Amino acid sequence: MNIEQRGYVSIINIVLVSITIALIAWFGFTITRTPCNQQLHYRIGELDNRFELSQDQFTSVLLDAENIWEQPTGLDLFVYDPEAEFTVNLVFDERQANFLEKQALERDIDTGAEDFKKVEEEFLSKKSVYDTDVANLTQEINYWNSQGGAPAEEFERLESERMRINGLASELNILAKRYNALADELNIRIEEFNLDVGRIFDQGEYTGEEINIYQFETTKDLRVVLAHEFGHALTIDHLNNPQSIMYHLMQEQDLDSPHLTQEDVDALHQVCANKNNFFTQLFDGSN
Ligand SMILES: [Zn+2]
Repeated sequence: MNIEQRGYVSIINIVLVSITIALIAWFGFTITRTPCNQQLHYRIGELDNRFELSQDQFTSVLLDAENIWEQPTGLDLFVYDPEAEFTVNLVFDERQANFLEKQALERDIDTGAEDFKKVEEEFLSKKSVYDTDVANLTQEINYWNSQGGAPAEEFERLESERMRINGLASELNILAKRYNALADELNIRIEEFNLDVGRIFDQGEYTGEEINIYQFETTKDLRVVLAHEFGHALTIDHLNNPQSIMYHLMQEQDLDSPHLTQEDVDALHQVCANKNNFFTQLFDGSN
């Protein structure tokens, strides 16, 4: 209504202003990285040797992580480039230190469980000898009691047998104490171990200028963490499917052969579509 009242010149002005705004916005988007038109060039920055991973090993895991996004989509999204400004880093802090501690604890638990089992076996076999000896002695004593008492040398033999069996009993008690102490220790360690549950993707982060990885257990694990952070670098947010690379927890993704879910693929197409929106509107007229 207003436009018609003001006439032809106003319409042209509005059109010009719109085109200018669109061009500025489009230009703005081309300055910021556009994941589907411009590849992310990256290189390895910090690589703390406490992760026990060589440069070559890290590079190969990075290429695997790239492939998780690139193979199914046919897009060349990431490029390893020694000259790149963007870095991917393995930063050692308390997260990996805690993990290594936990691993040591796990080994302790295994050793503890073995020790416990040995002591248990020793205890049980000694106990069965003890029980048999006690039963035999009791039978003999009962026999001689029914006879009105044992002859002197027989009495002495029974007495020394009784003392031998008592010695066996105190050995058994010592073993039982060790057995219980080991069981307690083991339980404390298992409890400690179980405290650490659920693994949020705080083991890595994308800052806009770099990807930092703070914790991983195996290279399979690292591959998924990197793919997840690569996803953030593509400007993809967290998704709701627990099997998605972009789910906020590492839990149900297939670590052995990690792959995008439909939601991951859709999210990538979505960010590509958003980034290309102005370009598409200006030159294609669709979407
Ligand atoms: Zn995340």
